[in-house]
Formats: sequence, C-alpha cells, structure tokens
Amino acid sequence: LDPEAVPPAAAAAIRQLKHELSGVQATIEAASVHAPIYESRRRQAAGTTFEAELMTPMVQQLQGVEGLPLNDQVMDLASPLRGGNPEVRRHLLQLREEALGRRGACILGPGEAEMPFSLTGLSAILQEKFGSFDPSDSPAEQQERAERMRQFVARRAHFSVIAHEMGHSVGLRHNFVGSSDAFIFRPQYWQLRTRNGSVRAACRELTTDGNTCVGPRYFDPVTAEERENLIWMWEHGSIMDYAGEASQDLLGIGIYDFAAARMLYGETVAVARDETFAAGTPRGQGLLAKMDNFGGILGITFQTGDSDFHYSQLQQQWGVIQNCRPVTDPDLFRPAAWNEAADGPWHPLLDGQFVRIDGQWTRCDQPEVDYVRWQDLRRPTDGETAGYYRGGPSIDRQGRIRMPYGFATDRWADLGNLSVYRHDNGADPYEIFNFLMTSQEVWQIFETYRRHKQTFSVRNAANRILERYNAKIRDGAKGLTLMKNVYKDFALAMGYDFDTFWPLVAGFFSENILASGMAFDHFARQLARPEIGPHFLPENDTVLRSTYDYVGTPGATMVTVPNGATGYYGAIGLGGKLVENRLCESCGEYDSEYTVNAGSYYDKMNAAMLMTESADNFISSSRNDFVDPRYRAVSIADLFPDGYRRWLANNLTGDDLLKGPRVAADSRGRPTLDPEGYPDAPIGWISWWGDTPQACFPDGNTTICSSYAEPTSDPFHPRAPARTAVLDPQVGWEQQKFLIAWTMLYLPENEQSEWLDQMRVWELGRDADPGFAQRIEFHSPNGRVYVARTFGKETIFGKTVQRGIAARVLEYADSLAEAAYVTDPGPDLDGDGDPDWHVPVVSPTTGQPLVRWDPTVALVDEMGFVHRDGLPGCNATENEACTCFSNRACVTLSRYLSIPAYLREALDAYRLGDPSARGVY
Ligand SMILES: [Zn+2]
Repeated sequence: LDPEAVPPAAAAAIRQLKHELSGVQATIEAASVHAPIYESRRRQAAGTTFEAELMTPMVQQLQGVEGLPLNDQVMDLASPLRGGNPEVRRHLLQLREEALGRRGACILGPGEAEMPFSLTGLSAILQEKFGSFDPSDSPAEQQERAERMRQFVARRAHFSVIAHEMGHSVGLRHNFVGSSDAFIFRPQYWQLRTRNGSVRAACRELTTDGNTCVGPRYFDPVTAEERENLIWMWEHGSIMDYAGEASQDLLGIGIYDFAAARMLYGETVAVARDETFAAGTPRGQGLLAKMDNFGGILGITFQTGDSDFHYSQLQQQWGVIQNCRPVTDPDLFRPAAWNEAADGPWHPLLDGQFVRIDGQWTRCDQPEVDYVRWQDLRRPTDGETAGYYRGGPSIDRQGRIRMPYGFATDRWADLGNLSVYRHDNGADPYEIFNFLMTSQEVWQIFETYRRHKQTFSVRNAANRILERYNAKIRDGAKGLTLMKNVYKDFALAMGYDFDTFWPLVAGFFSENILASGMAFDHFARQLARPEIGPHFLPENDTVLRSTYDYVGTPGATMVTVPNGATGYYGAIGLGGKLVENRLCESCGEYDSEYTVNAGSYYDKMNAAMLMTESADNFISSSRNDFVDPRYRAVSIADLFPDGYRRWLANNLTGDDLLKGPRVAADSRGRPTLDPEGYPDAPIGWISWWGDTPQACFPDGNTTICSSYAEPTSDPFHPRAPARTAVLDPQVGWEQQKFLIAWTMLYLPENEQSEWLDQMRVWELGRDADPGFAQRIEFHSPNGRVYVARTFGKETIFGKTVQRGIAARVLEYADSLAEAAYVTDPGPDLDGDGDPDWHVPVVSPTTGQPLVRWDPTVALVDEMGFVHRDGLPGCNATENEACTCFSNRACVTLSRYLSIPAYLREALDAYRLGDPSARGVY
C-alpha cells in the first residue's frame, strides 16, 4: 500500500481530492439525507410485536420506566424505536451543548471525570512535593498528606476552571482542537518527543524503545522520560477545550487563548518572522493549507509544499522548538511569593513548567513571531498556496503569514470531525481512537459500578459509555467511509477498477484506515465480551461457560476472567464485564432495588447500531448532492461490508466456538493460567473485517493476529498461541434481536438491495415461494418452512459455513434440526455431496416429528432410576418415545426458532419486504 506505487497523474489527483475532502465538515445543523428514512422506518414499526420484543426489562430499567404500564405514552418516551432511541437522545444533548455554547455557558456534569493517564508520573511529583507514601505511617499521617495533595490539585484545577470561564466572559468560544492540533501543543511536548530536537529520524516500523526515532505512536512507544515528565499534559493548546486527560487541568492558558484575546481586543495577530515560512515558500504553503480549518472529517493534517507529513515530523519539518538550553538552577524561577505551606515546595515541572531531558532541566524557544494589524492582512494569491485555500486574510505587507492556530467550536464537536472532540486527547486518528477506547476500558471498573456514588444510575452509566466513547468512535470512522464512496466515483472517472484501485488510495489515508479497523474491532469486542469470574467446561461442550448463575452444578473452574483491563509484561489485556445489572446482596430490604452496576448488556445491545447507523451530517454544496446523495450514507458496515456480513451472520447463530474470545491453552486445550487462576496472557479477540476472521492477541507492544486451521488449534501465524480455548461470548436471543432490529433499521444504504437479499427470509405459506434455485431451506419441526437465498460458502477457523446472513441462520437451525430429529435428507443443490438441508420425519402414530435419542441425556423412570442407555422407545435403536427434553439440540432449537421468525418479522415491521413477500399480488 505504498503511495509511491500510484501513477503520478493519479497520485496528484488523489491528493487534490483529499484536500477538497478535508473541506467536508460535519455539523449539528446540517440537513441529513438519511435521518428521515430512519425516522419513517421507526414509525412503521411502532406498536408492532416486533417493537414490543425490544422493550426488555433491561431496556425498561435503562429508560426508568420499569413498573409502568407500557402504553403508547410510555412507549413514546422509552421504546428504542421512539424516544428511547439512542440517536434521538444524543441529538437532543448536542443541541443543548450548542445552545449553551452560543450563550457563552458551559456545564460540566458529574459524569465527566477525566482520564488519569498521567497519574503515575503525577503521583511521583506529588510525593516529591508533599512527602513519599509510606505504608508504615499512621493512618492520620497518611490522611494528612493525601489531603494536602488533594487540596493542591483542587486549587490548581479550580484555577483552570476559572480561567476557562473567564475566557467565556471575554468572548472566547470553546476550542475543541486544543488537544488535537499538534501545532499548538506546548513546546515541552516537542522537547520530550524529540529530546530537545536531537531525535530527527522518523520511525518507519515498530521500535521497542521510543528513544531513537520519532513517529506515529503505533511505531514509537511512550518512553519512561515522557511518562515521568507528563507528556500527556503538554498536548495542550487552549484552556477553552474540555480536557480528556486530567493533568491538563493543572496547566492554565494556552497559546491559542492568548492569540484569540489579542485578536478580539487588539485586532492584532501573530505572523511568522522566520523567512523560511514566508509566502511562496514550501513551509509557507504548509501554513496556508492549515489556515482557519480543522481538517473536516479527515482531521488536521500537515504538509510542506504539496507533500504531506505526519504530525510527529513537525519538529523536523517546521522546527517548532529551537535554541534548547539547560536550566542549571530552576529554583531561580520560583516566584518570590510562593506559598510553600499551602502548595508544598516549588517543583520545576509542575510549578515551573520545565521538563527534564536526559536528567537535565531544559527549555527551548518557539519560532519567533511578530504582531501585525488584522486590517493589514491580505488573502494569498494562487501561486502562494498549494492549490487550495480555505482561510481568511492571512499575509501581511512583508509577505509574512499569520500563525494558523487551530480552532473549532461546539457546532463542529463530537459529530465526526476527526480533530474536534470534547474530552479527548491525541493528534492523529490512531491516538484519538486509542484514547477513547483505552479510557473506556480503564474506567470500566469505576464508571459502571455504583461504588457508593449517590449520582449512580444504570441509565447514566450506560449512556455515558455510549455517548462519551462509542458514538464518537463511530462518527470518527464515518469520514473515511464517505471518502471511500467519493473515491469510487473518482476511480470510475479516472478509468480505474475501484476494487484494485482502493488499496492504493488507502495508502494516502493509512491513519484513518487504521483507526476505522480499530473501531470495527472495538464494537465487535463489545458484543463478544465474556462474563467476569470463574469459567468451566460443561460436559459435551466445547466452550468455557461462566459459573455464575449456571443452572446445575458447574464443574471445576478452568479459568477466571479478569474484570476490565489488566497489565501484562509489555501488553495490556482487555478482560470481561458483568453482563447483568447486579443487585446488592447485603442491602437488607433495599436489595431488590439497589443496582450495583450497569451491565455489558447495553454495550452488546448497541453494537450493531454503532456499526450501521449512518445519518449523514455533512455540509456540502456539491452538485452531486443534488443529483444523487446516496453516497453520503456512511457507516462502518459500508466501509467493511464483508466483515460486517460475516460478523452479523455468525453472531446470529449459536456457534460460540467461532465467535467467542479466546485464551491461550495447553496441549490438552486447558487455559494456561497465572498463579491466581487468571489467563497468563491477554485474551484474544476476533477481528472480522480482514480477508478471513482472525483471533488477535496483544503481545509485547504489538498485536499478533492469526486464523486457525482447526477451530482452536494450528494457527497460521508462528507467534500466535498454538492452541486456544474459547470463552462464552454471551451472545444470545437478547443480543441477537437487537442485531436484527438495528441492522434492518439502519440498513446500509449503499447496495441496500444486496443487504436485503442477504438478510431476507421467506416463510412458505405466508410468502410466495421466491422461486430461485440458489437456496437453503429450513424445515422447522413445527411445520414452518423458511427459505433464504445462498451466496456461496466461506471457511472460518476451519469450519465451512454459508456466507449469506439469512442462509447462515437457516444453516445453523438446520444443523440443530439434524441433531434433534430423525430426518430425511434434502436435495444437494450446491453439489458438495451433502444434503443442503434436512426434513424432519413425522411419526405416523403421533403426527409429531420424531426426536432422536441423545446419548448425553439420561432418562429417569417412574421409580426414579436413571437410565444412561435410554428406555424402551427411546434408546440407541428406537426413537418413537423420545421427547424434546430428552435431546439437547432439540431444546436449543426450540429456543433458536425465534431468530428466523424475527428476521422475517423485521421485514414486515419496517415495511422492507416487497409486496410479493407478503403474498400480495
Ligand atoms: Zn466552557
């Protein structure tokens, strides 16, 4: 995927289009093409039993309507297809933020706790100031020390809040690129990333220590020096941002804030003095390309002349720090009025804002600027730009260019503009997505549990995860999908085949593509999250099941799944999460009302919505929008259609061996454990969107992904675990009905008819026979016959399965029917030598299908004796007397029948079927 491989003419055109696309911005006021379509589908389904199935007790609890009659008024507020739709709620919240912003007001709710990534470094500094932690100190001494630290942090944070609010008072709006525009980061950030400018080489591949090169974070890990000097704190350019990282509230006013106030009150702006930045130079073109925009849906990017570079090369390319020199006695900078009693000894880093490079306190200069009157600026000429310009007046009489400090306020925030998020941190798509995902994992054990918080509610906790993290991740990935759609037309116009052209184009957007793949994996992981705690292997099972609430006596514990994120040597493992909203067991009379946590039920419920919802909110005045705006439908499912199809199809089955997360196992298939019974290596998660699904295991500073020749053994990657054991992903009917409901509601608009074909189920008798030959049938024991179209087969972890979504569901149902009933073989339409489906044989005496004898289920006679070998009429040779309860697959199938039925029902509820599907001619 080397951009160099693209023909030069095409490369120039791709680059040009890329810059035009960075003018596509998502805004809260934009009219959406698709929102009215979703709206209409939602309304169609109102009042149907299809909708009622979604009003589960957990949804009622989420909406706060448990115990109320579910009449139309309550449903209007609470149904996931009406007022309880997460997108309706999100839109209201965004309108509120925007209205507050217009009035210069902001409200930070109690749920907005920030990420403590700098905590380890900060802890060391606070101990230098207030005394080291000593477990042998008396509790009173420890309390006194901790309280002094708390007071100090509170005063500093209070100062920051007041400075932010004073900013509003003097007319400043929020600036949410403060933590993502690397150009306005503090110079201390560059001192740490480049060791005072001495590290010049770019990292081109993963390095084990980040000391020798500077590059994207996926190549260049955080060093100890960076951590100890609070690298995350210095990713800061404006007090008018909402910090995502807690330590940024200790910092104060940023370069943008000074510039904005100077502009508003003095009508004066900073211009670059250095001649190498003058109009007409390559660096000057770079400044102009960045001028007055935030990169739209692609995010802020950098270039010199017309060649793009990653933000980590800013020092090399533009020299953002210079003249670095040691500070031999930082104490000289201590203010005379420093109050040591309250604030502890003055600290060079936290109080003086010096960083220590190679053990030496140092400081550097930023590029010199001069100040000129706004009215003396002119617009650039065509020759001075790199071919595109989206700014205002920017060049002074001496040809010097205004410093392009980034700015984007509420109306652009949290909508999909990649650099414009509240409560985030990070300068490229990878860092921003990583921040949102890691925050969510690290905070899980804090924010999803009550922990004596009076403000806790299931609703707040579940919504916070959706709104603060997941919806942002989803919207960030939308931009890339839009580009993919645009480049489809572009490829055609250039006369290239899109399928072979896209990998080349993708090389120009590797950052965004990487982030989108991470988003897909993240949402897939949300669905597959196992229960925490002990797991065991039931007899006759291939998947480790949770001991908690197991009906019957669980066997010996084989592995204990950790709760939330766990550190391993050089890797972070992501663990399980309680599925259920658990009730307090020691709260006396309140135990039935006192919920202690919000379960992963809600994360699982929302996964398909996050993958498919594609309401477009882009501003555009493109001619194409007025001719055919469908290309604006953008979701992760549109970006990875094969991955989504495969993920959905297999998760609609009960085939847990394919869809469950994995742990490394020994030669007998038993998980390998640490001394406490937890997995001794991080859990591996299934990544669905590549050529074939793979299990991905964190390993060192990287991730090892491999497919397997057998379901749990024989990896193709030499470093992947040779054997694995599979954990129950906790995906059942409760999750599957939301997979169906959301996917059908937000049906990917691109190739909509293909998706419908993939998901459509016909029920003979109710629907006319669709008539096509490429089909699979499922003959239900209750006499119903379902039909779906087939789309060939694929191999997943060594197992060959149907590709089509509905076909996969019917295939799975048929496999249960074959195990549960005496059957006759159906036809072999695909010619693979096996019947494509099976038809249950009906008993001539009872008129009921004949259940097979199941040797794993013992029969009990009237006297209470247990018969492992069956009883007359139901044993190895006879079936007439077997009942459904004497066969495991039969019981499983009786529950699974709701899936094909619900798929069929969704078509009617949303009115997606064509008339013939309803038997109307
Ligand atoms: Zn504010």
